[in-house]
Amino acid sequence: MRFLRARVALFVCIVFIVGFTIGLGIKFFYELKTFKPYTWNGETPIILNCYGPEFSELQMVRAIDYWTVRGHHIGFYEHNPPPSVCEEENLWGFIILRKASGRALGDDTLASTTRSTTGFIIRSVEIHYKPGAFNLDLINEHELGHAFGYGHLIEQGHIMHPHFHQMGGDFWVP
Ligand SMILES: [Zn+2]
Repeated sequence: MRFLRARVALFVCIVFIVGFTIGLGIKFFYELKTFKPYTWNGETPIILNCYGPEFSELQMVRAIDYWTVRGHHIGFYEHNPPPSVCEEENLWGFIILRKASGRALGDDTLASTTRSTTGFIIRSVEIHYKPGAFNLDLINEHELGHAFGYGHLIEQGHIMHPHFHQMGGDFWVP
């Protein structure tokens, strides 16, 4: 009897792991094949500058305008949030801008966006910039594109092109 119970437990565990893996696989495949796999589901996120006072508010406001005219809205941009808020991680409803520490991003990466999601709904976003990279042309527009749920698109001149030198100011949904 004890033996049987152990087998049932093992079976349940395997079913769970297989189900979880298939689920992750489907999610990964969908993300690869879909230009905009994620959504804020009608929420308007708030952007917090936790990079530091030297971050360019002008560049960020320009990037926010870029997406506003394309139908993606934010609540507001806070250039000087309280330090205690910046110590939090994965704050629901927020897009947090941070300075990447040391060599965290690797040599070829200027900035990186991480989304926390429930299914395909975005809960929070963190954008890490290499020191100074926030001033590069269109980089905020590109990273905010990820923050709004877009993936990469290898089309010359598109804002979501993964390579900085082939990226441009155009946006279209393929
Ligand atoms: Zn990118």
